[in-house]
Amino acid sequence: MSTSDVLLEPDPLSRAAVAKVVARIGADRAAVPNAIPVRDPHDDSVIGYVPDLGTAEALDAVSRADAAGRDWAATTPRHRADVLRRWYDLLIDNADDIALLITLEMGKTLADARAEVTYGADFVRWYAEETTRHTGTVREAPMGGARLLTRRVPVGLAVLITPWNFPLAMATRKIAPALAAGCAAVTKPATLTPLTTLFAVQLAVAAGVPGDLLQTVTTSNAGAFSNAVLADPRVRKVSFTGSTGVGKVLLRLAADNVLKSSMELGGNAPFIVFDDADLERAVEGAFNAKMRNGGQSCIAANRFLVQDGIADAFVEGLTERLTSLRMGSGLASGVGLGPMVDHNAVDRLHGLVDDAVGRGAKLLTHGRTHEGPGSYFGATVVDHVPADAEVATTEIFGPIAAVQRFSTQEEAVTRANDTEFGLAGYVFTESLDRAFHVADSLGTGIVGINQGVPSNAAAPFGGVKESGLGREGSAEGLEEYQEIRFYNLALRSTS
Ligand code: NAD
Repeated sequence: MSTSDVLLEPDPLSRAAVAKVVARIGADRAAVPNAIPVRDPHDDSVIGYVPDLGTAEALDAVSRADAAGRDWAATTPRHRADVLRRWYDLLIDNADDIALLITLEMGKTLADARAEVTYGADFVRWYAEETTRHTGTVREAPMGGARLLTRRVPVGLAVLITPWNFPLAMATRKIAPALAAGCAAVTKPATLTPLTTLFAVQLAVAAGVPGDLLQTVTTSNAGAFSNAVLADPRVRKVSFTGSTGVGKVLLRLAADNVLKSSMELGGNAPFIVFDDADLERAVEGAFNAKMRNGGQSCIAANRFLVQDGIADAFVEGLTERLTSLRMGSGLASGVGLGPMVDHNAVDRLHGLVDDAVGRGAKLLTHGRTHEGPGSYFGATVVDHVPADAEVATTEIFGPIAAVQRFSTQEEAVTRANDTEFGLAGYVFTESLDRAFHVADSLGTGIVGINQGVPSNAAAPFGGVKESGLGREGSAEGLEEYQEIRFYNLALRSTS
């Protein structure tokens, strides 16, 4: 069986279960007069509606969150920890429904959606624990006569803008540390995938997050939203995950009010396989790093750089793995590759393959595009890709494995770093010396060493160069929502 076989159809029981969740969050048609339709990328059918809110409503959300934020900032860390822990428990209790919703509005397989729920909920649990570990410092003034004290305080009202590819995890990775730090927040989910965020926020309120503290604004006009809310002086923080182009626009807006800014932007991850790598481990790692979410991940392996001695065997193994995937609705059992998020994505991916082949790359397998409704693009492998092909210089964001070959370590590192991006990189080798040497030489914020899925709630996730500013997850992720206050306590001798 291959990705070119008949599409697998969704299980009708799963569809019925999602309809119940959509009704539970009030996103069924009747409940929303001025509405943005949310579609299932499997067949383009409408699964729910969310309100298309304007700038007046966005500023009203800012006002409500700002007012609620004052009380929240005064709560104890223990209180915030207890609320977050209850939210975690509710996310886990509702994991099946959340996963169904993610699959239906975004397209990823149910297995990937379940993994996202585990990953996304983990940020909430981690920050429930971390908020009680707030620390300050006490230092001696070098010349004597004073103690220098620091404490961490909430930065203030945060605007959180998230993409469609991980609709739960990208939201919880921001909301959990914001609430843990004592901040109020206004979230704006992606227009393609607002339902998961709305459901997660509903569960947060059920867990004890004050209703006004955490606002969600759904809108079809993201530019008008950011222009209005980032100009409001009550907003003190913007955290964005999405494309580098939009990140630059938001940084310019943030400059006007000097907002504390976190930017999790695009990537172009090199995945380097040396001759001395364990082949099976490298193929498995490559498969995971490429195909999680159908390739629609910011840390997805974008450029496979493979040393000459292992290249043929690696390409053969990866191609075999990719052609064994069955394509269809993420709700169907046995499916390994769901639809892309929309038709624009499919057109873009075809353009990348045509460009690479036009420049001399060798097309090894190309899953067909499904005729009719649904935005499908099959797993594809292109070998001998020239370094200047678009598939090597831009973010693919889809199931295309693009392979380049190299002969020396130096060449691999030089080519890996020849990009304006610096989010993630991967190195596969059985030599510990080589692993660390290459990892230290890569210009990326994250390196997977013999590991295709490096993300972890306890680790600082983020990029360098045009891949972003700041970190999410871990203690560093909490600091993104805090300011440091410094007190100088004068001490004079009493003797
Ligand atoms: P996108 O930049 O098109 O949109 C992201 C979000 O920004 C959406 O909510 C969108 O509605 C909103 N937006 C768009 N224009 C805006 C504007 N002018 N003002 C305010 N908001 C605006 O990105 P996308 O297509 O949703 O997501 C894919 C991109 O996200 C990829 O580049 C991917 O690498 C990146 N990403 C990065 C990370 C990371 O952690 N670094 C994680 C996931 C995705």
